[in-house]
Amino acid sequence: MIKKERHVLVILPHPDDEAFGISGSISMYREMGVPVTYACLTLGEMGRNLGNPPFATRETLPQIRKAELIKACEALGLDDLRMMGFRDKTIEFEDDEKMVQLVTDLIKETNPSLIISFYPGLAVHPDHDASGRAVVRAVRRIEPEKRPTLYTIAFANNTKDVLGEPDIIHDISDTFDKKLAALKAHASQTVWMMKDLEEKLAAGDPEMNSRFRYERFYTYNWENDFE
Ligand SMILES: [Zn+2]
Repeated sequence: MIKKERHVLVILPHPDDEAFGISGSISMYREMGVPVTYACLTLGEMGRNLGNPPFATRETLPQIRKAELIKACEALGLDDLRMMGFRDKTIEFEDDEKMVQLVTDLIKETNPSLIISFYPGLAVHPDHDASGRAVVRAVRRIEPEKRPTLYTIAFANNTKDVLGEPDIIHDISDTFDKKLAALKAHASQTVWMMKDLEEKLAAGDPEMNSRFRYERFYTYNWENDFE
């Protein structure tokens, strides 16, 4: 079961992070009438995949990915998308305090009961880790009894050694079609894998079904803080 929230604030760096990680959960919250704000920090304009034959140039890729992001959010019923305008692959070099302030402002404005981001240090890509770090730092500054819950996404190879099993597992079967629609909306990133994925899912492939029909989170543990 998915817990009803007052407001969910999602902070992730790249268009398509939401589709892979949490799109089933986002649609479930929206179907429950829970407002969801998604702050997407970059437009993924450094994405290496420009297609073969190319569908984009370095110059057109940001516009393409922006349109895909908007389409993905529409598929999820998410109507509060914030495109924050940072440059792809640069989040780790941004000023820490600036990033913390940005997150703090979003929290003050939306007053979320739940925030979803990456687990710093266990999210594989430097932009993912840096986004999670800014979120953890901002939430840590809030008095413990007033802190929103923080769900983190961790998928580094050593995640289970460090954090054990995820404590929150959402069965997203009910909104699985919307997740697929969001993944497809990010065509520049996913077109190469969708056919294979859909075939495997249809054939009941256990690994793919486990990976895509459930969304897993670690509730951030302030007793076990990373710094
Ligand atoms: Zn990403």
